[in-house]
Amino acid sequence: MNRDTEKFIAADKKFVWHPFTQMKQWLDNEPLVIESGEGFYLIDTDGKRYIDGVSSLWCNVHGHRVKKIDDAVKAQLDQISHSTLLGLAQTKSIELAEKLVKVTPKNLAKVFYSDSGATSVEVALKIAYQYYRNKGQKRDKFIALGHSYHGDTIGSVSVGGIELFHSIFRPMLFETYFVPSPFPYRFDGTSEECKQFTLNKIEELLKKEGQNICGLIAEPLVQGAAGMIVHPHGFLKAVRELTKKYNVLLIADEVATGFGRTGKMFACENENVEPDIMCTAKGITGGYLPLAATLATQEIFDAFLGNPEDFKTFYHGHTYTGNALACAAAVASLELFEENKIIESLPAKIELIKDYLKKISAFDYIGDVRQYGMMAGIEIVKDKKTKKSFEYEKLIGAKLCAAMRPKGVMMRPLSDVIVLMPAVAMDMDTLNTLLEVVFDTLKNDLPIYSS
Ligand SMILES: *Cc1c(COP(=O)(O)O)cnc(C)c1O
Repeated sequence: MNRDTEKFIAADKKFVWHPFTQMKQWLDNEPLVIESGEGFYLIDTDGKRYIDGVSSLWCNVHGHRVKKIDDAVKAQLDQISHSTLLGLAQTKSIELAEKLVKVTPKNLAKVFYSDSGATSVEVALKIAYQYYRNKGQKRDKFIALGHSYHGDTIGSVSVGGIELFHSIFRPMLFETYFVPSPFPYRFDGTSEECKQFTLNKIEELLKKEGQNICGLIAEPLVQGAAGMIVHPHGFLKAVRELTKKYNVLLIADEVATGFGRTGKMFACENENVEPDIMCTAKGITGGYLPLAATLATQEIFDAFLGNPEDFKTFYHGHTYTGNALACAAAVASLELFEENKIIESLPAKIELIKDYLKKISAFDYIGDVRQYGMMAGIEIVKDKKTKKSFEYEKLIGAKLCAAMRPKGVMMRPLSDVIVLMPAVAMDMDTLNTLLEVVFDTLKNDLPIYSS
């Protein structure tokens, strides 16, 4: 370890409070300090290289230090870094909005910018709520799925269903109707029965309370933070039909699934679903800068039109809304999707992941492997038959990911689920190396940590 590394580690421990991190444990360990990146690799202060196996927490798309995005941000720096969208328009945010409307489902017509996935959800919830008020209807509630994750601000947590993260805050939150997540692995019955079970719960609620419900919010197809729960085929489509039937808005949180992760540009496309509101963030700038966009239909937008004294204005905004540097990165990222034919390149990569998962699923302690497109989760259990999990304190997932580091791979688990979320633009060779390390670790290290 060089002297700089020691200095950085000491200063980190002295000054930085890390997200989602038990800091006692952090302070007792030696963190890796990332100094740079290149392509799909992260490089630490000692010059060691690691494949970025979870796309820097699910946001990196084309790799690090991509010339086209670098150049776009640099060119934007020479024009202007930021100017407000409150009362002013700005060239880059205009260019990006037009592009976003083109690539998202065709009913979506308007783009509302913010800064993170959580704020994109806050915006969606507030738009849905005020939409009905503006139409003269008082609706107060939302429906969300169990185990859902929509971000960490209070509104997003209110529609969040991950007990480990959310239960302590419950008294601070607004009340939400939760329906069970359609999670076939943990359901006693077939995948079809699992799907129908949740759909029935949703329909019961809509029948009884529909007049009081603004919207149903869901992560389409894959509930990422819950441990890569993949919904049964046709669930999303059926939810769309139910919400239409009972006249309730469907909010698709594509923060994790958007920008190629499911094999299409957006998850909704896989089941030909047009949501009323769509939340995007993570991959929007290629993983370069914080930016989010909430998209809405023309009909929703129109409900906010009126004279000032009608008080139909959407009074919401953030200082850095539509930041020009972030929009420049996002425009370049969208152009790269086309230039590099990213979506077209995905089937081969998705097959490769599938092949490895199939082999991995045969190992001891592997309870379930789940995949949709470029998103995958490998769930480790103490007992394959009873599906019983390991004790929480055992931190199996964290230990396995730590074991991958000396082998040159950076991963972050969700409890006992090993998450595989490579950048969608990752080349086949690098993807193969990444999968080989995961395979080797689950084959050779897992039995040691499990005993
Ligand atoms: C990560 C995530 C969010 C929150 O995004 P942030 O940018 O971390 O606030 C919201 N929804 C989903 C589905 C996510 O995966």
